[in-house]
Amino acid sequence: MLISIVAPCYNEEAVVARFHEEIQKVAEELLPLGHDMECVYVDDGSRDRTLAVLKQLAEFDARVRYVSFSRNFGKEAALLAGLRHASGDCVIVMDADLQHPPELIRRMLDLREQGYDQVMARRTRTGDGLMRTATARLYYRLVNRLVDVELVDGVGDFRLMSRRVVDAVLELTEYNRFSKGLFAWVGFPGTTFEYENAVRLHGRSSWSFRSLLNYGLDGLLSFNNRPLRAALHLGLCLLVCAGLYTAWIVGDALVNGVETPGYVTIVMAVTALAGVQMIMLGVIGEYTGRIYYEVKGRPHFLVKATNAEQTEGHAACG
Ligand code: UDP
Ligand code: MG
Repeated sequence: MLISIVAPCYNEEAVVARFHEEIQKVAEELLPLGHDMECVYVDDGSRDRTLAVLKQLAEFDARVRYVSFSRNFGKEAALLAGLRHASGDCVIVMDADLQHPPELIRRMLDLREQGYDQVMARRTRTGDGLMRTATARLYYRLVNRLVDVELVDGVGDFRLMSRRVVDAVLELTEYNRFSKGLFAWVGFPGTTFEYENAVRLHGRSSWSFRSLLNYGLDGLLSFNNRPLRAALHLGLCLLVCAGLYTAWIVGDALVNGVETPGYVTIVMAVTALAGVQMIMLGVIGEYTGRIYYEVKGRPHFLVKATNAEQTEGHAACG
């Protein structure tokens, strides 16, 4: 069986060689079991020497494929490129920063042999701040009520996928990619196991609060139009409330006459409604924005240099 390791790398010059060493160790252990391994490294437009390191690795190891983007297209695009260039019977997606321990590959393969098409690693949130852990928990509760696919806190992109899962994921050509959700969407029998995630050795996470927020919104909005519907419900509720309140005020004025000019009430009503309207406009805008990107049909990424052949589709772009 051929196993493909897919690893997106963005400014990982400090660790990518270490990472490959660790993978090689695992590959050697797997060889007697009849498993071959290839590595697909996607350089996501790094500004450091990541590409040079990858080229060097490829020179010494024929199992190394690298794909280098013309600029930083984001991890989702890098994952897509990796999957397109992977030719294995099963594909393992992992981060190049050694936060996903390569020792776990054995465990994943064992579970694969039990017949699972997807083996997902669920990380404990070691090294994450209290704030991030709490927001993540809250987010997953919210998201699972709203979207059709089930997303689990701690289950990320670190997972093994069988060929048929990879092929199914590659069929999904949408521009706004939320891989976790796409992987869940394709289905097939899957299982989850827990691991303690390592704390980052070099560099720092490229996720800022803002990028996490945007990633979270992608997850919410990519799978159905329930938020649009929720905005509609909210608007209807408010309309009914406003109607009742108006009736009450008019009745009150008829019976008691007008005493105080309802300054506070007016200000409150206006600001509250303006807020709600802005939210709804935002929701609509989000979906429109998505349509805009889909309609343009631009490639997900552009390749600057590679030693790999794509398994399907165009040669230079995705
Ligand atoms: N990554 C990427 N493109 C980006 C940002 C990150 O390919 O624009 C890669 C990065 O090199 C790493 C993985 O995605 O292998 C996860 O990134 P990071 O460690 O910053 O995220 P975290 O571990 O905090 O989720
Ligand atoms: Mg990381």
